Amino acid sequence: MYMDQNKIPKATAKRLPLYYRFLNSLHLQGKTRVSSKELSESVKVDSATIRRDFSYFGALGKKGYGYNVEYLLNFFRKTLDQDEITRVALIGVGNLGTAFLNYNFTKNNNTKIEMAFDTDPGKVDHNIGGVPVYHIDDLEEYIGNVSAAILTVPAQAAQAITDRLVECGIAGILNFTPARIAVPSNIRVHHIDLAIELQSLVYFLKHY
Ligand code: ATP
Repeated sequence: MYMDQNKIPKATAKRLPLYYRFLNSLHLQGKTRVSSKELSESVKVDSATIRRDFSYFGALGKKGYGYNVEYLLNFFRKTLDQDEITRVALIGVGNLGTAFLNYNFTKNNNTKIEMAFDTDPGKVDHNIGGVPVYHIDDLEEYIGNVSAAILTVPAQAAQAITDRLVECGIAGILNFTPARIAVPSNIRVHHIDLAIELQSLVYFLKHY
């Protein structure tokens, strides 16, 4: 089941983890097939979009049967590299960072925060949620082949840390700081500003 991932549109690629999580829970419940209606209602994506998304990876639902859960799961596992653990580092063990360390993401997929960094002597050399916390000065020493980083430091620290991460060969950054960080074009940054998301939700609630 080979697939050139460059051919999947970015909007579709972004929905893959959502589909994967839902199909995985169906699989755990022992379900072998799912209708596009059920999928659509559960992941809150309209069924035309689901059909189009799924057609990119050769999964064509059959009328009256729906989609084969196992086939889709296998596809998603391969496409999302679920068979391989992606090593992640978290920088900034404040309130948000600590929550992520305790949550760690292994329930849904194979990404794992393997190490964290901070400047605070009260946190350095401790284990939080089973993850060792090192001093940020030792970033280059420990980071090894970690491929993604989660940034939960204060905004003013974000760019300098980003530059160091880039030097270390990081491939992607999930940026929770309000800072707009600059990176070379081959590095992927996803920016999540929870305050802005909340504000935008409130705006929609009021105006639509
Ligand atoms: P949060 O923003 O997650 O709610 P907080 O309010 O507890 O966190 P912040 O001041 O935002 O604290 O800092 C987040 C964490 O980042 C703290 O643990 C702080 O020690 C750490 N930190 C600050 N500067 C740096 C830096 N340059 N490198 C690494 N960690 C840093």
